[in-house]
Amino acid sequence: NAGWQEEVEELLGKGKAVADRTVVEKLSKDYYWYSPLLHRKLKDKVAEGVVKIRTESDLVRTLAYAYEHRIPVTPRGGGTGNYGQAVPLNGGLVLDLTPFNDILEIGNGYARCQAGVRLGALEKEARKTGQELRIYPSTLMIATIGGFIGGGSAGIGSITYGGLWSGNVLELAAYTMEEEPRRLVIRGEEMRDYIHGYGTTGILAEVVIPLAPAKEWEEAIGQFERLEDAVRFANRVADDAGLAKRVVSLHEWPLPGYFIPLARHLRQGMAAVLLEAEKGSMEKLRQYAEEEGGEIGYTKSDSHMRKGVSLTDFTFNHTTLWALKADASYTYLQAGFSSTNYERQIAQVKAKFGDEVLMHMEWMKAPGGTAPANLPLFKFTTEERLNEIIRFLNGIGVPVNNPHTWKLDANKDTYEGMVMRKKLNDPRNLLNPGKLLAGHDEEEVSHHG
Ligand code: FAD
Repeated sequence: NAGWQEEVEELLGKGKAVADRTVVEKLSKDYYWYSPLLHRKLKDKVAEGVVKIRTESDLVRTLAYAYEHRIPVTPRGGGTGNYGQAVPLNGGLVLDLTPFNDILEIGNGYARCQAGVRLGALEKEARKTGQELRIYPSTLMIATIGGFIGGGSAGIGSITYGGLWSGNVLELAAYTMEEEPRRLVIRGEEMRDYIHGYGTTGILAEVVIPLAPAKEWEEAIGQFERLEDAVRFANRVADDAGLAKRVVSLHEWPLPGYFIPLARHLRQGMAAVLLEAEKGSMEKLRQYAEEEGGEIGYTKSDSHMRKGVSLTDFTFNHTTLWALKADASYTYLQAGFSSTNYERQIAQVKAKFGDEVLMHMEWMKAPGGTAPANLPLFKFTTEERLNEIIRFLNGIGVPVNNPHTWKLDANKDTYEGMVMRKKLNDPRNLLNPGKLLAGHDEEEVSHHG
């Protein structure tokens, strides 16, 4: 269908359909290259074109057009996902949702916005009303709210509020892929069919998320000779319900050594715990650090709105990015440690792998308290070795969400509801096909033209 560009522009207006190869290639990629396996498999995947969505009617018309012509569509926000979520596996059209970015309402305790709103812009507007985001990914400034809900999981603030599934999305409006796309308004349990669904069950148009009363935050780094002491300190801070915080992020040496902008604040050879806590917490943090055999080094008295370097720029998947900058052979996993048995599990990993597998842990709210999520880093050698590490973790009771696959079915994120929704909302399997197989063969995916 060589005429797609003209046809789409007829429906949406001039400038909305982009066929320029450089732009299309750029918008066909996300941060899939974090994984050497995904890099190899996805590097040549390119869409045929990009449609710039500015309004809800642009979205509806594009979906109806794609349905009629059996064209796969892949929604895209900031394109910062790590698993090739936004990479079009079967050509077709990428829907660039970043122009679809009106903040529709900031009310008392919530914000309603279009899916393409960037989280940094939303945080800024929320702060003007004395409120702030409850959770956001460390890619705050680039990531969109639709992309976070569609492909993210947790982030800064999750130590207090948990991940996307823990009441951090209040309502979604999503479009189906049919002759006449339906606008579904989704609340409650049913939102699980769309959260972290890579847009395979519907395209999010509008979202409502809860906001928290704004706090003043400050930053600090705890430093420890021994990993075990750093772990105990981090857990004590995480578990202290009287101490408001947004981040408790632990990094085994040599990972802190890769945080170049922080180099002069970090001591050689020491594990670092990066913290963002409410203003006025410093005395308590110092006391905890000393009692656990370490010290608070660097502090910053005002972290809000990321003036200059923010410690959160070194947390979550930013940690992996700094390591990759230093040595491109690094890669990572995403594992969940037990809230009660994590010290033993860490010791087991260290006993088995020594310095091969480096601890990077992010504490999160969990049933009954907090638990560390682990994004361990190691140098990639072979797929076999990678699988060995995964098997070992599973064997000691640590579930792994494998970030080296784009298939939702391969991880626990998928469940029956999502599969059922896919069949109902996308009968021709055109929404980001190949990500949620849901009984479709990969070969079965409809091809355009
Ligand atoms: P995109 O990458 O554009 O899209 C993500 C997925 O959602 C894709 O499958 C896409 O098809 C789909 N999608 C996009 N828009 C819509 C829509 N409107 N409707 C339906 N589906 C849609 N993730 C975290 O959860 N926490 C972190 O702390 C974190 N830190 C990161 C740090 C770095 C350095 C990097 C590179 C990534 C990190 N990520 C993190 C992953 C990613 O940045 C976030 O999940 C981010 O929220 C994705 O938003 P985005 O707008 O870039 O989404």
